[in-house]
Amino acid sequence: MNKIIYLDAAASALKPDSVIEAETDFLRNKYANAGRGICARAAAVDDMVSAARNAVAAFMGAVANQIVFTAGATDGLNRAARLIGVENMRVAVSDLDHHSARMPMVAAGADIVLIGLDENYNYDLSSIPAADVIVVTAMSNVFGTPQDVAGVIAAAREKNPNVIAVVDAAQYAAHMPIDATAWGADFICFSGHKIGADTGIGIMYVREPMRWRPDNFGGGMVNKITDAEWIFNDAPECFEAGTLPLTQIAGLRPALAAWRPRAGHDIISGLYDALSRNPRIKIYTAPDAAVLTFSVDGMHALDLGAMAGARGLCMRVGNMCATWAMRLIDAPAGGVARLSAGAWNRPEDVVVATDIINGIVK
Ligand code: PLP
Repeated sequence: MNKIIYLDAAASALKPDSVIEAETDFLRNKYANAGRGICARAAAVDDMVSAARNAVAAFMGAVANQIVFTAGATDGLNRAARLIGVENMRVAVSDLDHHSARMPMVAAGADIVLIGLDENYNYDLSSIPAADVIVVTAMSNVFGTPQDVAGVIAAAREKNPNVIAVVDAAQYAAHMPIDATAWGADFICFSGHKIGADTGIGIMYVREPMRWRPDNFGGGMVNKITDAEWIFNDAPECFEAGTLPLTQIAGLRPALAAWRPRAGHDIISGLYDALSRNPRIKIYTAPDAAVLTFSVDGMHALDLGAMAGARGLCMRVGNMCATWAMRLIDAPAGGVARLSAGAWNRPEDVVVATDIINGIVK
């Protein structure tokens, strides 16, 4: 078997050694629960959680009480829909949305309205409908182009100054710095595992945390219970019922320290140059996009993925959990293939991956 070329960063990033070492050290030498103990070890875990929260806040231009730990982007997006209570609200969505961004709104009973896109599959700021809630996909996992999130939210507020903006930053967070304040979003969700941290940890930024009534109940989130009332802890703890994913939180700070903007973009643009010369390959993404999404004339995406995988190339094939984007590009029935890179990829990966794909697609 050849060396593995991992070009599936957009599905999940490989982990820097510093993340693996921090998690191992926590499990082996520092383990205790947070927010419950008063021994020195438990206090140190509390400090570790606070330091991770502060690091996330600094990463996205927020303050610590706006940072809620979740299980991932999907969990955060579901929780945002529940916290808002979108039943019978007019919720604007777009065909850029991942299933995880639109489905929670539909499942919670929203009335869906569509935001228009331009011919390059970017938000068309002139076609933002009046809505109670707007879902903004900061970067589609199919197209890999950063969107003008602040512009979309500002345009939505021109139609309704009270619109609640929920941003899916799952892909964006891996490539570009987030400025929560400049965006003006009410909720911003992303996953640790796409930015070099572990699975099972996510971030939900909440602009005005005290505006929302907690959606999950249990240990750690309530200060006092009487027969008459429940007095919740202050944010963010009031949104964090139960034991947090502490090991994964231990990996957050080193992941953010290792994070670099546009990591792997040179690899994707090299692949774009090489693969755009193959006449059987149809590319759906821009040359400077964060991902390269393509299909092959006369070949099912799953066949391509299996053959590439057997030769050591890991990439994503299928509908990308983005049914609406697949319709937009009129994707073949089996979906498309997607190449995405990270800090671990080397320039020679472009040559090897191109040889593998061109060897299959002759
Ligand atoms: N949103 C986008 C744009 C994504 O690409 C993904 C994952 O691929 C998600 C949401 C969901 O992320 P997770 O599966 O980590 O919850």
